[in-house]
Formats: sequence, C-alpha cells, structure tokens
Amino acid sequence: MKNKQWLLASRPHGEPTRENWEFKETDSAETGAGQIKVKVEYISLDPAMRGWMNEGKSYIEPVQLGDVMRAGAVGEVLESNSDEFAVGDKVYGNFGVQTIAVSDTKGVHKVDPALAPLERYLGVLGMPGMTAYFGLLKTGLPEAGETVVVSGAAGAVGGVVGQIAKIKGCRVVGIAGGADKCGYVVNELGFDAAIDYKNESVHAGLKEHCPDGVDVYFDNVGGDILDAVLTRINLKARIVICGAISQYNNTSAVKGPANYLSLLVNRARMEGIVVFDNARHYGEAAKEMAGWIQQGKLKAKEHVESGIENFPETLMMLFKGENFGKLVLKFD
Ligand code: NAP
Repeated sequence: MKNKQWLLASRPHGEPTRENWEFKETDSAETGAGQIKVKVEYISLDPAMRGWMNEGKSYIEPVQLGDVMRAGAVGEVLESNSDEFAVGDKVYGNFGVQTIAVSDTKGVHKVDPALAPLERYLGVLGMPGMTAYFGLLKTGLPEAGETVVVSGAAGAVGGVVGQIAKIKGCRVVGIAGGADKCGYVVNELGFDAAIDYKNESVHAGLKEHCPDGVDVYFDNVGGDILDAVLTRINLKARIVICGAISQYNNTSAVKGPANYLSLLVNRARMEGIVVFDNARHYGEAAKEMAGWIQQGKLKAKEHVESGIENFPETLMMLFKGENFGKLVLKFD
C-alpha cells in the first residue's frame, strides 16, 4: 500500500517555503504487534506547526529533519493488532502529514462520525475547542457582566472563546482581519462587537466597544494588538497568552509588550497556557461543549482544503489570514 508523506527537509528562517519540505511516496510500514494502520482522512493545520519546525526547546520536541511532519488527524482503521481498535473504527491521533499511518495507539481515541462530521473532531470538538474552553474558563476566569476581548476572533480557537464567554454572560468583543470575519463573529457567533484590525484603529475600537474597560483578554496574536489591549485593562484583569501568531515568522526577536506596566498599575495578571495540561479533563469539556452545540449555543465552522500535495501552501493560509474557521486538509 502506497503512502504519501511530507517530511521536514530544512528549518525555515522566517516564512516557510516549499524548499523546507520534501514530498515522498513510499510503501506503508507493516502493522506490528499492538499497532494499527490508519487511512488518514483529514489533518489539522495549526499555527503551532511553525514552532515545531524550529530547533530548540519548547513545550514539545521539535520535528527532526527527515521526519514526517507532525499533525493531529482523523481517519479510519484499516488493519488492527490492538484489542482496543477494530477495522473500520474512525479515530483521532497524532498521525502526521501522511496518507497512511502506522500507530502504536498512544494518544489515539475513537471518534463518532454519527455525532459530528469527522473534521469537527479537529476543531471545536478537538484541540482548538479544548484550548478555548480551558484557556478561557480556567485561566481567564470570566464572570457574568465582565468584558472579554479575543483576538483571532474568527479562527478556530478565538471563535469558540467568544461564544463560551457569551454563554457565561459576558460582553464579548472580537478582533479580526476584514469586514467579512468581523461581520461573521457578530452576526453568526453572537459577539457584541468586532474590531477590524486591518482597517480600523484597535485603540479607537477598544475605546468605543469596551466602555467599561477589559476584564479578560484572550490573546491569540501578540504584537501590537496585545500592546493596544494592555492600555484598556481593568483592575485585576486576566490576560490569557494562548498564542502570538503575528510573531511566529519573525526573523528578528519576538516583539514583547511595551505596555506591560499596565499589569502593575492594574494589579493584573498575564498567564500562558498549553492545552495539553488539561488532557485528563478533555472528556468533561467535550461533554459540556457537545451540549452547547445541541442547544444551538455553540457554532462550528471548518475551512476544508483538499489534497496532500497542497500541504505547504495550505499551512501558509493561517499566516495570511486566508482561513475562515478551523483549517483542515482533506485527503482523497
Ligand atoms: P486560527 O485563528 O484559525 O488561524 C490563524 C488566524 O490568525 C488567521 O486566520 C488570521 O486571522 C490570524 N493572523 C494571522 N497572522 C496575523 C497577524 N500578523 N496579526 C493578527 N492576526 C493574524 O488559528 P488557531 O488554530 O485558532 O490558533 C490561534 C492561536 O492559538 C495561535 O496563536 C495558536 O498558536 C494558538 N494556540 C495555542 C494553543 C495552546 O495550547 N497554547 C493551542 C492551540 C492554538 P485574521 O484574518 O483575523 O488576521
């Protein structure tokens, strides 16, 4: 059985290009004792992939040169030497950017295609959904009546953050690029307001839409937007550092917040999060989120691109703001 794969060929300086990748077609490995063979149907495209391409210590090991690129994925079990999984099961796992994966089943779990389309298990019912749920509720600690601001508001994590904040009774203001995305978060997702950072002043927008200041800021982008929000925070504000996509392709040092003394003045807190820290509690979160989806309180949107050959360009869509919702790549 043929397996198509993308390997990391070299480490990028700045924006990744095709030269950083090697496409390979090879025979798929044998399914060993305790292992399963999976036909990968969708892979998740994540901003974090850019970090995994770098050398050096992070919250997870970098992908080694010559290795298949790491990716969360969903697919169907083709062969099984495991008691836990049967042929035909649909499963989630860290299967990588390849069409056929052989897995020792570590970190693999079944998903139910009758409850939700497969790609949704990479979005709201998967890692981005968990990031939003735990990042907001455990670290942002929103209270009813407070003002929550979220950047990357039309994206996989940001869209869920804003909707959960609404469920919790907060005023929610999103920051996103372009009129379409801003219209979507207000009209479809129910945010109270949105600021189009590509065409408006974020400072002016925050002043207008957050008349009582900002109690929680869920930061997906870092850079100038983080600095702007810091000027509007309230006493005891909580700033959740989820990501800093504006900085991931920098060729110079990451731009830190110049306005950090606002934390001192306001006795505020800025705290980083890593979704995997909550892995033991994913089940409870998924149950609550599934309930919200059923009640129509939580909406999901996936952006599906096709063809493993297009992986390098599809990944770059995240950094150009060309994805609208959770970006996934479908394999034939
Ligand atoms: P996403 O928001 O679906 O897609 C990325 C979006 O970032 C783009 O659509 C674009 O939206 C925005 N963007 C790109 N370049 C930007 C820039 N220079 N300035 C401002 N916005 C920019 O991606 P996601 O998967 O939900 O991830 C969002 C963030 O969460 C990322 O920073 C990611 O690293 C982080 N994350 C962290 C964890 C964790 O455990 N800490 C887990 C998952 C994700 P616009 O069109 O609106 O610009």
